[in-house]
Amino acid sequence: MKHFLTAFLCILLSCAVLVAAAYGIFAVSSYLGNILSPKSTSVNNEDIKKTVTVILDAGHGGIDGGAVGARGTLEKDLNLDVAKKLSEALTKAGVKTLMTRTEDVMLTAEGASSKKNGDLRARLQIAEGVENCLFVSIHMNKFPDSSVKGMTFYYSPNHPESRVLAEAMRQAVVEKLQPENKRPMKEAGSSIYLLHRITRPAVLVECGFLSNAYEESLLASEEYRERMAGVLAEAILSYLDAQNAEQSS
Ligand SMILES: [Zn+2]
Repeated sequence: MKHFLTAFLCILLSCAVLVAAAYGIFAVSSYLGNILSPKSTSVNNEDIKKTVTVILDAGHGGIDGGAVGARGTLEKDLNLDVAKKLSEALTKAGVKTLMTRTEDVMLTAEGASSKKNGDLRARLQIAEGVENCLFVSIHMNKFPDSSVKGMTFYYSPNHPESRVLAEAMRQAVVEKLQPENKRPMKEAGSSIYLLHRITRPAVLVECGFLSNAYEESLLASEEYRERMAGVLAEAILSYLDAQNAEQSS
């Protein structure tokens, strides 16, 4: 009986040693595996979203109210609200954002001869000061023909990604918000100061026409602006995913 017990204990001990050894080999090999191939696709997928800064530019501000709707809606206020909502949605998804303004102000530096030019120059300087960024400017439109409505996307001619980002946003809007919207994207000409000069990937979103009574009432609704910002944020996120996929392929 004594011999039997000793033998049993020996077997038990050997088993424990074997399990410990197997675990050791597993731990070492997974450690080596991590060292030798640390970049799986999923790690890469996180990268651009973690390194890029999305600059959200709420157009106008302060004494520059921008377009005014028939019901008195001020463009500058809607721009700021949409930019804030967009910033919140992107921040929630783990993307860094930077707003050119967070209050009802112009960005003109003291002593600038033209307030409007100074304001635009300051916005441009913010964008050019951030190396890895996307620039998204938020505006509301106005047109003499009050039947004209729908979102419009302008892209900067100076960086090829501007057009790609604008197309991603336009498609998302047609799919999820305005299925009847046939407005083509437009390359920004010299009349759009910021997009004409900026060297970063840049898009200007005209969120709708305040000169159209129906669209003005939509834009004045907090719920609609929330939905719109959500669609734009999703488009930016899928654009970043596509960038990651391109980079890792
Ligand atoms: Zn504007």
